[in-house]
Amino acid sequence: MYNLTLSLIYQTSRKAQNHNQMSETITIQLTAELYRSPMKDRNEDKYGYGGCICCNKPMKETDCLYVHMNENWVALNPQFVTEENCLELTGANSQGCFPIGNDCAKKMKGFVFNPNK
Ligand SMILES: [Zn+2]
Repeated sequence: MYNLTLSLIYQTSRKAQNHNQMSETITIQLTAELYRSPMKDRNEDKYGYGGCICCNKPMKETDCLYVHMNENWVALNPQFVTEENCLELTGANSQGCFPIGNDCAKKMKGFVFNPNK
């Protein structure tokens, strides 16, 4: 799993008695394993490919959510990973974005995005 560690350094108020520099480290998860629905194989037999990436269920084109994947087939944090920095941040090139249904998107919180919003 790839993470991004950021160190934040900030100055406390000068009015405060103790105006030391404060620092804090936060870790951001950049990659996540893609959820795989137990219905995926059954839906593939029934509907074929082209639906939700996690369960193969057919989807409406409108208002569809997407998940960005890299060539190692892991989901990428859409707030930090772009096609340009993908290799540098996650160790593999972008594989593009794939549609994901609403139910499966709930299993991938923070890793899906709506291109229309
Ligand atoms: Zn699905």
